[in-house]
Amino acid sequence: MSAKPKLRVATVSLAGCFGCHTSFLDIDERFFELLEHVEFDRSPLTDVKEVGPCDIGLVEGGVCNAENVHVLRAFRKHCKVLVAIGACAINGGLPAQRNHLDLDHILLEVYQTGYALDRERAFVPNDPELPLLLDKVRPIREIVHVDHYLCGCPPSADAIWKFLTDLIGGATPYLPYPLRHFD
Ligand code: SF4
Repeated sequence: MSAKPKLRVATVSLAGCFGCHTSFLDIDERFFELLEHVEFDRSPLTDVKEVGPCDIGLVEGGVCNAENVHVLRAFRKHCKVLVAIGACAINGGLPAQRNHLDLDHILLEVYQTGYALDRERAFVPNDPELPLLLDKVRPIREIVHVDHYLCGCPPSADAIWKFLTDLIGGATPYLPYPLRHFD
């Protein structure tokens, strides 16, 4: 076991599907080895809600609303190294498929006028506590500086493992060709 202090790692899912986090969990028993070198701060794995000072921040998902912007800026502020993990964080991914459509039209169709909805009683949710939607889904690099990109939808567990062990070991992450893919 390393005598060095453990690195602090935070993870978050913005406009994503949690598939990248699920792939992260697919490192399976290697998680125990990882925990010899890192401890987790804010993450769906810990259920900690606010990010504190961290060495590495892993961001899944793009930016689709005002809360995503707020959370992403907090990650950038607190994490020495910020990683965009997966297609959604890198280029908006699947959620960005709404970018060529009118947002008001989408909301009406989904909540009020779509097939099988009761048009008399259905309404578009408008509680002031709901985060304001952005007109487009944005890649995280349009909001904050990103240090590293880990491609894939999702990246495989082996790719995440290689990437993280490089980073934790102080090396620039490098993925050999078989671990690199974009789907
Ligand atoms: Fe899900 Fe793919 Fe986006 Fe990851 S990149 S959050 S797996 S849709």
